[in-house]
Amino acid sequence: MSAPDTPTPHCSCSDALSYVYDYLDGEVDDVRRADIAAHLDGCGECREQFTMEQVVKSLVQRTCCEDRAPETLRVRIVARISEVRITYRRSP
Ligand SMILES: [Zn+2]
Repeated sequence: MSAPDTPTPHCSCSDALSYVYDYLDGEVDDVRRADIAAHLDGCGECREQFTMEQVVKSLVQRTCCEDRAPETLRVRIVARISEVRITYRRSP
C-alpha cells in the first residue's frame, strides 16, 4: 500500500491532461487509459484536474436530462471549460 509519489514515466502531465475529455468520455483505448490511470495515481495535480472535469461533465449531463438548463449555469460551465482549455495551451 505504498504508492510512489512521483508521476509514472508512462505519460507526462501534458499528455494526461490533453486526453482528459476523451478519458472521461471513455474514448481512449485500454493502453492509453491504463497510462493515464497510472499517471493519476502518482500525480495529485492531474488527479485534481480530472476530478474537476468530471464534476463539470456530470453537471452538464445532469442539466441536459432536465427540461432546460438554467442559462446562467450553462454559461458558467462553458466559461470554466474555455478557461481550462486556455490553461492547457499555456502549459509547456
Ligand atoms: Zn500529472
